[in-house]
Amino acid sequence: MGCCSDDGGNAGPFSEGNALVEFVAQAHGGGLRNQSIPGGGLDAVCQGCGAGFTLTTFVGKCPTCGGVHAVSPPRCGDAANIQFAGKGYQLPEG
Ligand SMILES: [Zn+2]
Repeated sequence: MGCCSDDGGNAGPFSEGNALVEFVAQAHGGGLRNQSIPGGGLDAVCQGCGAGFTLTTFVGKCPTCGGVHAVSPPRCGDAANIQFAGKGYQLPEG
């Protein structure tokens, strides 16, 4: 979809864990993270507490524990590519 080129730094759409979450959260000046995932979202299992939920935007939180998860657009076709930022992670504002 013509976005998410790796234009510096170590993080990119194929990073994992916290690095991927931060990359997606900041991509497009923060405009990507609230965009809906095509197809209605991905069935996710929280990697913090184990609860199931639907990740409907590229960055989303587990409704049970607030754990932050993200998936990058090139990888959003498979829930296995969802990355978890880690327990206690707070998204940067703005
Ligand atoms: Zn959770």
